[in-house]
This record gives sequence, C-alpha cells and structure tokens, in this order.
Amino acid sequence: MNDVYLSIGTNIGERYENLQHAIELLIGKERVEVVRISSIYETAAVGYTDQADFLNIVVYIRTSYSSSEMLKVCQAVENELGRVREFRWGPRIIDLDILLYNHENIETESLLVPHPRMYERAFVLVPLIEITPTPVGEQLQRAHETLKQLNCQEEGIMLWKESSDTRFMPSLK
Ligand code: AMP
Repeated sequence: MNDVYLSIGTNIGERYENLQHAIELLIGKERVEVVRISSIYETAAVGYTDQADFLNIVVYIRTSYSSSEMLKVCQAVENELGRVREFRWGPRIIDLDILLYNHENIETESLLVPHPRMYERAFVLVPLIEITPTPVGEQLQRAHETLKQLNCQEEGIMLWKESSDTRFMPSLK
C-alpha cells in the first residue's frame, strides 16, 4: 500500500459540491482508501489573479496504484467532473495534484513528486500539515519548516469549513 497526499482545488460553479463530488469519485475507486480529509480553505488565486477565489483541501489516501496510475486516476476524476483545460493557471472546476507519493522523488515526463510548487503555497501546506501533525520523513519535515515562514494572511488563505463539520463527507466520520 502506498501513502499518497492529493491537493484538490476548485473555483468554478458550486465549489463545495465539486469537492464533495471529487471525493466521492475517489472513494468509489476500488484500489483507493480515503483515510483523511483536511478542512476546506478559501484562497485568492495565484498566478492569473483575475478569477474567483478557490476552495482547497488536501486528502490523504492509501492505494495500491503506482504513481503513474494514480495520476491517471486524478485525471479521470477531473474529466468526470467535466474539467475543460482552457489555459494554465486559469479557472478550473476541479484540479487534482499529487503532492507526495510515499517518500519518493519522482521525475518523469508527466509527473513530478513532490509537487514542484507545493512548498511555495500556503493553500497546500496549511491543509497538508493539518492532517499530518507529526512531521515524519524529510518531505513533511520540509513542509512544516516552510509553513513556519509563510504568513497565511499575506498568502490570502482562510479557513472556510472545518473538517470536524460532519456534513462534509459524513461517510468518513
Ligand atoms: P494542471 O494544469 O495543474 O492540472 O497540470 C496537469 C499536468 O501536470 C499534467 O499534464 C501532469 O502530467 C503534470 N504533472 C506533473 N506533476 C504532477 C503532479 N505531481 N500532480 C499532478 N499533475 C502533475
């Protein structure tokens, strides 16, 4: 079994429903066990800033999928939710990224893990650390260290719904 952390973001349409739908689709995959889901954070867009705010979460899953198979699963979930790729950094109904895959460093044409921009982004680090309170392993240690230096207010990230709210994915509570 592989320990995998995914980042999920959305800024089009019913953002809360989009997150729920993505998680339901992940739960429906035979070889994926959704173990933990962070609170939901609302974040101002980075990169192309003239677009709606995002809702972001991090999800911890265990899976027997290889990293490349897991990338395909993430893309299948994006497609099932009707994502249309318009332009990089642009608005999106749903975006799933693989942050960490075990403690592996992966560099292929289609996959870079740890995700190359994860250490720069409070909207990834805050929910990641919320569900991994103890920094086990070098990559999570680095995430913890980096977060200490980021100012969440400056980064435009706000708690939107706490994970203790059982209306969010009641099947996991
Ligand atoms: P995006 O527009 O953010 O969804 O980028 C998707 C592209 O990033 C895909 O073509 C993936 O092959 C590539 N990619 C590289 N590393 C990762 C990663 N860790 N998680 C998800 N996609 C990745």
